[in-house]
Amino acid sequence: MKVTNLIVWAWISWIVLAQKLAESGEDVLIIERRKHIGWNCYDYYDENWILVHQYWPHIFHTNYEDVWKYVNKFTEFINYQHKVLWFIDWKFAPIPFNFESLYILISLEYAKEIEKTLLKYYSYNSRVSILELKEKAKEVWDNNLKFIANYVFEKIFKNYTIKQWWIKPEEIDLEVLKRVPILISKDWRYFQDKYQWMPKYWYTKMFETMLNNPRIKILLNTDYKEVINQIEYKKMFYTWPIDYFFNYKYWKLEYRKTLYKFEAVDKKEFQPVAVVNYPNDYEFTRITEFKHFYKNSPTYNIKKTVICKEYPWIWKIEAYPVLNEKNLTIFKKYKFEAKKLKNIYFIWRLAEYRYYNMDQAIKNVLDFFNSIYN
Ligand code: UDP
Repeated sequence: MKVTNLIVWAWISWIVLAQKLAESGEDVLIIERRKHIGWNCYDYYDENWILVHQYWPHIFHTNYEDVWKYVNKFTEFINYQHKVLWFIDWKFAPIPFNFESLYILISLEYAKEIEKTLLKYYSYNSRVSILELKEKAKEVWDNNLKFIANYVFEKIFKNYTIKQWWIKPEEIDLEVLKRVPILISKDWRYFQDKYQWMPKYWYTKMFETMLNNPRIKILLNTDYKEVINQIEYKKMFYTWPIDYFFNYKYWKLEYRKTLYKFEAVDKKEFQPVAVVNYPNDYEFTRITEFKHFYKNSPTYNIKKTVICKEYPWIWKIEAYPVLNEKNLTIFKKYKFEAKKLKNIYFIWRLAEYRYYNMDQAIKNVLDFFNSIYN
């Protein structure tokens, strides 16, 4: 079989690329190992017409104007501001840690003092990572700052990170912890991006619309290695883990794997917001209740809801690259090999061994497409 562009895996980046290539007149074959498109972004309506994200919760948020403009061509969106709570010492407090969390978790008088202290070192509305805050506390010898840095680290980051990654927070790439900053404000939103929306219908429908072009063919339920010898391609765009591509010649890269355990609950609502994190209690890291994404849905008021508990310690789905020194060293060797291949392109989280949000994945591909084809 002859094809101009062979795409391995129907993940969001490659769906965008397939759409752009087909729009510019080229033919595309996508080979997908799973039985559906969209990879971990896949969502569907269950028997009660509740929209469920099969893997983990996906909330669309971006500051990139071009990405926002692009996705709007394929779906309408509804406004959704993501709110997440922590379950700490039997209380619920907003995450990222902010002044609201401070007053819920710490006694009133001391919270007032801590607020003043934080504002002495940081301007209102700034964002600080937990490791930066700990460093600062050491540097300035301020007991209040030291207390809050330790409190947030111990209660919020330490056990969650060990649970999620099986390594200490100090050993993980700083970028991972920076994803959840400490907010020097009352801002309770999980993301601070300009655009925060959910597709009006569902992500999979948006992807189907993107792929709705006769120049695009999709082969589901197929590992590319089973058929690659029968395909003649001009360019290949690869997104399966890079170590698998090179038959693990430099050793296997580690990925954190997660089990998603779904439960149907006979209640209108299980928890106050879409996501609650459990840093210190239970074996799961967080519970998502999908209904909260679509409060205006006709099924919102029914006495049924679906929740999903995430267990990071069980083998199931390759979800996150483990960004520590050992893995990054192995990855560099694969990257060097990959660069030598002229007509094969590696992009995205598992191929690039990076931690990408959806909008970054789209942005990368839009920039990549413009650099190659314009
Ligand atoms: N994290 C934490 N406590 C939390 C939430 C996050 O320690 O309550 C740390 C943890 O190491 C996690 C990282 O911050 O892996 C990034 O969190 P995020 O919620 O962005 O992870 P994702 O949604 O990508 O799983």
